[in-house]
Amino acid sequence: MAKTSKKKEAKQALVAEKNEQAMVAGILEGSPEGIGVVIVRLECGCRKMAAVAKDGEPASKIIIYRDQAESICPKCKEDNGDFMRVTEAFIHWATPEPSESEKEIISAKVLGTMPATS
Ligand SMILES: [Zn+2]
Repeated sequence: MAKTSKKKEAKQALVAEKNEQAMVAGILEGSPEGIGVVIVRLECGCRKMAAVAKDGEPASKIIIYRDQAESICPKCKEDNGDFMRVTEAFIHWATPEPSESEKEIISAKVLGTMPATS
């Protein structure tokens, strides 16, 4: 059987989208402790974000919002963006970025309890 040359696609690092970046900037501005912002994308299209401090603790309140909408969707109003509906979660690091090892520790602490992203 011929092996299909299935090149394993390098898992693309998740990066903040343009509209998310604006939020991230605003959150970091209001959270001097923050060295990054956790971005959680929900299947409904809403987003949850919170600044994270160097020790992996939250450095801001969790913000939940929906692009180009005055309010979040009814589902999120109900369950507040339940983990079950998370499609992606990652940290957008502020510059200067922490070292790789620091990132790993913080990511594990912050995202460790969240479902794996695919
Ligand atoms: Zn929603």
